[in-house]
Amino acid sequence: MCGARRRGDEPSVSDRERYEGLLYRVLRRCSANLDLGVTLEEALNQTIEALGAERGSLFLLDPAERVIRRIGAQPGIGEDEFDRRVERVVAEGLAGWAIRHRQVALAADTQQDERWYHFPEDLAEAGSAIAVPLVHGGEVVGVMTLQHSQRGFFSADDAALAEAVAAQVAIAVTNARLHDAARRDRRVLLDLLAALPDPVLLIDLEGRVVRANERARLLLGTGIVGRPLRAAVDSPEVVEAFQAVVEQGAPQTVEVELGEGRCFDVALVPVVHLGVVLRLHDVTRLRRLDELKSQVVAAVSHDLRSPLAYVQGFAETLAEEEDLSDVARQCVEGILAGARRMYALIDDLLDLARIEEGSSRVEEACELASMVDAVVGDLARRMEAKEQSVEIDVPADLPSLQMGSLDLQRVLTNLIDNAVKYTQVKGHIRVTARRVGEGVRVSVADDGPGIPAEAQGRLFERFYRASSEGEGTGLGLSIVRALVERQGGRVGFESEVGKGSTFWFWLPWAAPGASVS
Ligand code: ADP
Repeated sequence: MCGARRRGDEPSVSDRERYEGLLYRVLRRCSANLDLGVTLEEALNQTIEALGAERGSLFLLDPAERVIRRIGAQPGIGEDEFDRRVERVVAEGLAGWAIRHRQVALAADTQQDERWYHFPEDLAEAGSAIAVPLVHGGEVVGVMTLQHSQRGFFSADDAALAEAVAAQVAIAVTNARLHDAARRDRRVLLDLLAALPDPVLLIDLEGRVVRANERARLLLGTGIVGRPLRAAVDSPEVVEAFQAVVEQGAPQTVEVELGEGRCFDVALVPVVHLGVVLRLHDVTRLRRLDELKSQVVAAVSHDLRSPLAYVQGFAETLAEEEDLSDVARQCVEGILAGARRMYALIDDLLDLARIEEGSSRVEEACELASMVDAVVGDLARRMEAKEQSVEIDVPADLPSLQMGSLDLQRVLTNLIDNAVKYTQVKGHIRVTARRVGEGVRVSVADDGPGIPAEAQGRLFERFYRASSEGEGTGLGLSIVRALVERQGGRVGFESEVGKGSTFWFWLPWAAPGASVS
């Protein structure tokens, strides 16, 4: 690897060609080769050769500028000794100077140059040397050193060329690091996907399965990758939900049956640049338990009605007695109040069981404005007792809603009754209805205490009560939701503590002359 150049002159045409050739080769190597070790070694060797150096080395540094990798050896020196020397020159030698100053260092005569670190044991020291930092994006990622035994061997042009090569190598080092980091991240993601207990698919925006974890392949078949979603998952609801995610850019969930009666909760989440992630969670056991629980609750509730009727009947008969002592009368009234609450609970439970089971009453679709008036009229005495005011803003010309009158009465009663129940004395309640899309949105707003954020996610759960104030079963809102959703409607609320709550539901218009089930 000996140089064949004249020393001390301006670079000749052939020198320049050689420089350009070197740069071109280094550039090509750096961009073509992702194996950093090979790239660095070749870049170093070619620079040594082109500059006619006798020796060279290249060290890579971590962000704290500690050497993490070295290329090039020093003949006759063992590994440990070499490491010690590397540490020294990076701390105190020419290489260290180049790193700290982020610029090329040319020591034309090492004997005269204070930046050169002299190892006392060295008999044949370098006469001249170049150290050049590998800088990318302001960070020093390494340092390359070239040596020759002859003093004045390297020129300023050599230093400039070494600098140009170093810039290319620095880019290659940075790219290789980014590539390594990307590969590591990809591995982590794949491991994570494999470790998930649920089947997970990645679908591209054209609706094709591009990735599937082991569990997804076990459930849906080994050949699903590459197939359209509709062929991979046998469920029109899932395909529909996928379309909705693509069109609206918002997550969707659906519950579907797949395979032999297995029930899955399917969540579809859009991921920018990737497509849609689809997660299937097996809820078969939960659904069976839920069904069983509903059946037991319905059966027990039903069977409780007759003994309760006895309790109420006997208590009412007793209450009619004139010569009851005050204590006895209080007890009888207590029994009657308790029986009324039990009736309310049993009715709620039976209703919920009926709605969830899907059995229905066929009724005429009804007119909203008069129903709101009727429900508010029924609750008027309770509002008066609490000195609450009520405002109704329901246009009379709204089309009929897709809900029978008994169910609509139930929905309105539950929402307005809650507003009355949870709003303080002298509070204000407002019932409004507006056309929204192909239906009507009805809101019941109050200026009551509002609902704390931590309770808001659970309000529609069965038996959930956010406060122990007032009498209630915790079933009212579950019934509202079940009734509204059964007709293709939606429910929701906004609430702020100290300001009040607005519960709303949206129902589609009824088809003209239709009966509603
Ligand atoms: P409940 O029989 O307890 O009224 P619901 O299902 O109707 O059961 O309501 C669930 C819980 O939601 C209630 O216990 C109450 O804490 C809260 N809630 C409902 N409506 C209101 C409202 N208008 N203002 C404040 N809290 C409310």
